[in-house]
Amino acid sequence: MTTVEMGIPTVRGSVSLDGRPDVPELVDKFGRVARDLRVSITEKCSLRCTYCMPEEGLPAIPQQDLLTADEIVRLVRLAVDRLGVREVRFTGGEPLMRADLEQIVAGCAAAVPGIPLALTTNAIGLEHRARGLAAAGLTRVNVSLDSIDRAHFAQLTRRDRLPSVLAGIRAAADAGLAPLKINAVLMPETLSGAADLLAWALAEGVALRFIEEMPLDADQEWAREHMVSADALLSALGARFALSPVGRDDPSAPAEEWTVDGGPATVGIIASVTRSFCADCDRTRITAEGTVRSCLFSDSEVDLRGALRSGATDDELAQLWRGAMWNKWAGHGIDAAGFTPPQRSMGAIGG
Ligand code: SAM
Ligand code: SF4
Repeated sequence: MTTVEMGIPTVRGSVSLDGRPDVPELVDKFGRVARDLRVSITEKCSLRCTYCMPEEGLPAIPQQDLLTADEIVRLVRLAVDRLGVREVRFTGGEPLMRADLEQIVAGCAAAVPGIPLALTTNAIGLEHRARGLAAAGLTRVNVSLDSIDRAHFAQLTRRDRLPSVLAGIRAAADAGLAPLKINAVLMPETLSGAADLLAWALAEGVALRFIEEMPLDADQEWAREHMVSADALLSALGARFALSPVGRDDPSAPAEEWTVDGGPATVGIIASVTRSFCADCDRTRITAEGTVRSCLFSDSEVDLRGALRSGATDDELAQLWRGAMWNKWAGHGIDAAGFTPPQRSMGAIGG
């Protein structure tokens, strides 16, 4: 086994496939099959959310270490054609920081027609790019927005950019990028504004999901005893809205849905920590540097970029990817004794 130290995680050039059934899909030892691919395309970001980035931003990845648009398209095609991936989502860092995002989307849309191509974004600058991205073949957008109060937003993100985010959300809706979903990370500071955020989402007709904060902040300040749980959110929202559980449509969908005031509107809660859904995880991830990361919490990654640039065939790349998935962890283990957070933060992995 080749092991290359890249400063952060352990990056392997090969992995054991011992015991793996000879099937094309991305299967693991726990019977899970990955169908949902997250592709991080940059570590750069226009915000500095406290639960994600350090104040100064992440160390810059040298340009030559980033996957190019053509390399991303090749890996996406391979994932769909050979490995059974059925949905692709671009993330980061902030994917809108890449000027060639439209080119990446258009290349993927041509390479894997019919496969949904989604974007997770903070929406800054989306106002000017939503139409172009929709025309390039983007199908859906998830926007991260934690507070509808401008001062509060500035405090959480360390940037006073709420108007730009709201303009981006409107532009995405106008461009037909639907369904538009809003993701809000639950922090002690966000709890008091959660009901206002839900009232805003109901008025705008956008779906809102709250996400429990995971120990993936670059500053490593997350603490189990301080995190806001789904239960705490439900009681905060319950003081203003009547909520009834409707469960999950699909077991691998992370959000549990609740109807609001009798429906049809719903609110989602992604209780990644207190009600972990690792047993149903169907994700595989590529980092901006071209490594496969099978679990957010495992710093063991498999290097596709090195193989790709040394002339590996699609068969060889597919086999490396299968090996990465075969060795995927059972779960994040946040509640296990001796748990330590991974070295990469969420923005450096691609959430
Ligand atoms: N910049 C884009 C954005 O914010 O949507 C895409 C990248 S961001 C890392 C992807 C998602 O991860 C966002 O919804 C963000 O709120 C979420 N996230 C970041 N840090 C997190 C943490 N510590 N726990 C839970 N979710 C987190
Ligand atoms: Fe940037 Fe997204 Fe991380 Fe916020 S959550 S700092 S917007 S990458």
